[in-house]
Amino acid sequence: MGFYNTENWPEKSRYYRWPWSNNDNPVGWLEITDLCNLHCKGCYRKAMEGHRDIETLKSEVDFFIRVRNIDTVCIAGGEPLIYPRIVELVKYIADRGVKPNIITNTQALTKELLKELYKAGLFGLTCHFDMLQERPGLNKNDKKITELDLMPLRQKVADLVYEVGKGKIYTTFNTTVYHENFKYIPDIVKWARKNPHKVQGLDFITYRGIPIKEGVIFDVEEAGEVTREDLKKDLGYVEDASQIDITSVDVYNLLKDHFGDKYEPCAYLGGTGHIMDYKWWGQALLMEKNGKVYGSIGPRTMEFLQIIHHWFKRRYFMYLRKSTVSRFLILFTALIGDRQLKSTRRRLLLTLLNPVKWFQPLYSQSIGINQPPDMMENGMASMCESCPDACVWEGNLVSSCRLDEYRKYGRLMNAIVYNKDTDKRGVEIEGTTKEEIGAETK
Ligand code: SF4
Repeated sequence: MGFYNTENWPEKSRYYRWPWSNNDNPVGWLEITDLCNLHCKGCYRKAMEGHRDIETLKSEVDFFIRVRNIDTVCIAGGEPLIYPRIVELVKYIADRGVKPNIITNTQALTKELLKELYKAGLFGLTCHFDMLQERPGLNKNDKKITELDLMPLRQKVADLVYEVGKGKIYTTFNTTVYHENFKYIPDIVKWARKNPHKVQGLDFITYRGIPIKEGVIFDVEEAGEVTREDLKKDLGYVEDASQIDITSVDVYNLLKDHFGDKYEPCAYLGGTGHIMDYKWWGQALLMEKNGKVYGSIGPRTMEFLQIIHHWFKRRYFMYLRKSTVSRFLILFTALIGDRQLKSTRRRLLLTLLNPVKWFQPLYSQSIGINQPPDMMENGMASMCESCPDACVWEGNLVSSCRLDEYRKYGRLMNAIVYNKDTDKRGVEIEGTTKEEIGAETK
């Protein structure tokens, strides 16, 4: 948390900054229920409303199409698969020409339901697994499970989705990253590499929340509207500051240490509060079906693909329908100046000495790293630039990670930094104190 030492962080100029904005963004985030059949430590949602009305949800889809130029609707919650009219909703979104992608813990996923969803036009499933979810039946004899214990379950889900969709359901696996499971990240990547035809992407989301910290209070507390205990009860994302300090660069460094130069991101979104933040960081590995990795696509290829997609479809993309690519096409990336793929092209040329390989496509597998909002030392919050996971709230778009503040207090909370010795409220700026000024969190 706070202003990190960013001296050795990778330079931003090495990557493409995704060109998304509020009104031209590939994603709309649809919150369909706040009920769930699991409890995840990193969840942002408290149960307040239950299942939402389907006609309201359809009108939110229309709103996204009208004002945001979306390519995908991420159907989220709560747990979307327990929403009684999920199939009807998926069909509605697909019929409107947008890709429906469900974010699920998979507890309620059955073959029959998946077949129905696929028939209705389901584009993708984002499956959330992490070892702090406490899935029923997995914590045997009070022994805490690890990410390794979850691998058979990940595999079972990947197999099921592949069986139903034959590779046409875009499947990604998300993991919230805590201190407890940080060291298992390379194991999850290794597992995904064994399944390039079944797993199109991974996403590592560093655990974040509003920090309970000496010297920071919130204006709702100040106004006497809530106590700190209420705050903890009202919001799922109030947390001890020491628990929420893993950065996206920590994850990046871990991946680099384990996998070397073949792993390199191509694009990012920065933070609104800190110029060095990597809030969203994307890489796409190119590999054989047996998991042999050749390299990662570079910023020029990502830029080219976004522009071409926007030129022909009038929208940017987050997910492409096709996750295989001809190795001859990769050779053409030299023409658009993708230097990151230079050694990959050399390795691929050698494979072409074997004519059998000419007809074997390469698989692309993305690895996203996300670092949700940070509350910084000065009381400001650093949110994701052009927040892709924005949802509808009272006719406007708000960041879904902090939706519960709107639902509970009608607005975002502001942090107020104070000096506990002098009890002065304000923000220290160059040795002076601006008294009684609350720093806005957004
Ligand atoms: S700011 Fe937006 S994109 Fe970032 S974590 Fe929050 S909802 Fe997701």
